[in-house]
Amino acid sequence: MHRDLLGIRGLPKDDILRILSRSDHFISLLDQHTPPIYPDVLKNRTVANLFFENSTRTRSSFELAEKRLGATSLSLAMQTSSVVKGESLIDTLKVITAMGIDVVVVRHQSAGVAQLLRKHLKDSIRIINAGDGANEHPTQALLDAATLIEMFGSVEGKRLTIIGDIKHSRVARSNILLLSQLGMKITVVGPSTLIPREFGKVFGVSVEHNLDRALSQSDVVMALRIQRERQDRALFPNVQEFRDRYGITAKRCKAYPTLPILHPGPANRGVELDDETADSEHSMMYRQVTRGVAVRMAVLEWLYSE
Ligand code: ASP
Repeated sequence: MHRDLLGIRGLPKDDILRILSRSDHFISLLDQHTPPIYPDVLKNRTVANLFFENSTRTRSSFELAEKRLGATSLSLAMQTSSVVKGESLIDTLKVITAMGIDVVVVRHQSAGVAQLLRKHLKDSIRIINAGDGANEHPTQALLDAATLIEMFGSVEGKRLTIIGDIKHSRVARSNILLLSQLGMKITVVGPSTLIPREFGKVFGVSVEHNLDRALSQSDVVMALRIQRERQDRALFPNVQEFRDRYGITAKRCKAYPTLPILHPGPANRGVELDDETADSEHSMMYRQVTRGVAVRMAVLEWLYSE
């Protein structure tokens, strides 16, 4: 069976549950104190990580997942590639995959690139979307779901509040698509300039502009990075004002002492989260990172499973 992970949209719920449950197995290997023995299900496979946008955590997370499963892993910083010299994206990808690549992991600043490549690359090549513009970031949503399930058992009926730059966030989109299938209730909070009109209706979520009101009704919160690289002009007055209204400040962190806090990273400390919040025991940031490797191992295994 041929599998790609182009987005949460189009990924059957059974596959979501299967990946999440396998990621539990991989996290138990990662968490153990003795050196783990991983299954080499990607032995003799070659994975190319093609990152047209900067990334430290996602790229290293994929690389580790691939190597732990026995793959040969090739990582290219595509900002410096011949795409910059004028070769088209499709040509460059065809050249690279002609070297005998089995899986392409792609991150790109434009929405829809993973789908575009699917149309142009050989059928035998499998594609994982590692983030396309403001569209989707499916492995981030899977790792967030895995982190939430680890905390709550079942997430059904729990309310997640997603805060900040909803407009430019592929993390928010993929998470909403995934977590609402698992029965979570979702509120998005931010200035109206950072929440597209109709967003609530289109995605079936509640929209709120007052963070404290939203926090008092939440079981868990996710702060998003302000995506400065995607903002054509200032969409809020200044960083200080954003922090005061939408940041999880040390004061807010103390006011809601049982509220777990997620952030996909990289976090702008002093904007979305104060240092005290990021380093508090409520912060799930580092657990998300560990879960990320386990989820990516599960996705890579799933690509080739029956
Ligand atoms: N790392 C996440 C992404 O690639 C979140 C972010 O960059 O703000 O979308």
